[in-house]
Amino acid sequence: MEAELAIGEESCESNEMDLLHAPPAVAEDASTDSPPFEGASAPPYEPMENESIEESSTGDSVKEPLTGSSEQLSEEENEETPPDQRNWNIPSVSEDDVKKAFRRYAASKCCYRIAPAKHMNVQSITPLNIYRYRLETFTEMRETFLVSGVYNGEFIDSSASVPPPDRWEIMVDPPPLFTDCEMHLPVPHSYSVEICSNCKGRGTVLCQTCKGTGKKICSACDGTGTSLLADDNICLRCTGSGNIRCFSCHTTGWRKCCRCSGKGIVLFHTELTITWRNNILEHIADKDCGLPYYHFQDVAGKEIFCDEHTSVFPIVDFPEPSVDDYSRACIAQHKMQFSSQSLHRVVRQKQTVELVPTTKVEYEWKEKLYSFYIYGNENEVYTTDYPGKCCCSLM
Ligand SMILES: [Zn+2]
Ligand SMILES: [Zn+2]
Ligand SMILES: [Zn+2]
Repeated sequence: MEAELAIGEESCESNEMDLLHAPPAVAEDASTDSPPFEGASAPPYEPMENESIEESSTGDSVKEPLTGSSEQLSEEENEETPPDQRNWNIPSVSEDDVKKAFRRYAASKCCYRIAPAKHMNVQSITPLNIYRYRLETFTEMRETFLVSGVYNGEFIDSSASVPPPDRWEIMVDPPPLFTDCEMHLPVPHSYSVEICSNCKGRGTVLCQTCKGTGKKICSACDGTGTSLLADDNICLRCTGSGNIRCFSCHTTGWRKCCRCSGKGIVLFHTELTITWRNNILEHIADKDCGLPYYHFQDVAGKEIFCDEHTSVFPIVDFPEPSVDDYSRACIAQHKMQFSSQSLHRVVRQKQTVELVPTTKVEYEWKEKLYSFYIYGNENEVYTTDYPGKCCCSLM
């Protein structure tokens, strides 16, 4: 047992050394003298190279919508320091932790006997390095819609004196970075009053109940005016006429236009909808460790690398090569997704690598060998061959 543990810890140490000697970097770093992650700052995607950004600090009429945020970001960038790579400890669990987690797991299952978890003989504890790569691309989307409403004679902020601003020129208070948010606001100077197209300016529309006749066919006699129930065979409801008054239009054949509320004119303006969204791509480099992939989605890990800039470059030379591939693929996917649409603007990107602590434990119970996994900061347990299941646990 001692020997197995020592091997486990040694492999853990050697992984740590690997990380120390081969820290992850980003694609641009090799060509700069700056610390490893300074080079990750990249020029923005093409749609971000909007002239309005340049003018935002001096322009009076042209303002970059996230001015405050942009200034704040550039300050942050100056102060940003690379993640402290000297303290990359691969988390590992002790035999005590292993036993505690396994006992808690067995106790949580109503049909599992606790004895195997309590009295098992641990044979080996093997730490596995499971990396979780995550790319977050915080985007802002601006769409405009024409909105109509009832005009009550109020002042109209029309485009007569000042033209309405472009949707990207409207200043707003952005939400915190990487937080989903939606905002609706009217575009200044976009108001106008127009003839109501629904009623062609009349203020009234034809009554659809009576088709403009002001009367309806009597439903009691189906328009015949006769009834076998009455002594004189005359329908009592319509007194023999076969028609009754249309109450929907008070027999006028016309109803008030609901779009303009009978005014004949409608107030239009442009509504701006801003949607901030944190788009996340995530991959687990699990190397077929035996623990199904989806289990890792619900647990936390230890962040060992974080790179945040206006846009990030792919990681290169990470100790686990598939992280490089994920990074490259994810960044390419988001670039394709968000740079080709003029509606979108990438505000900020962040890529992180987490080490999700995962340990394979082999143990002996009644002269048979079994195994289980402990994973995540929460020390969750996964096993398929627990030896103390009751028959009802198969259900
Ligand atoms: Zn109308
Ligand atoms: Zn009517
Ligand atoms: Zn009738």
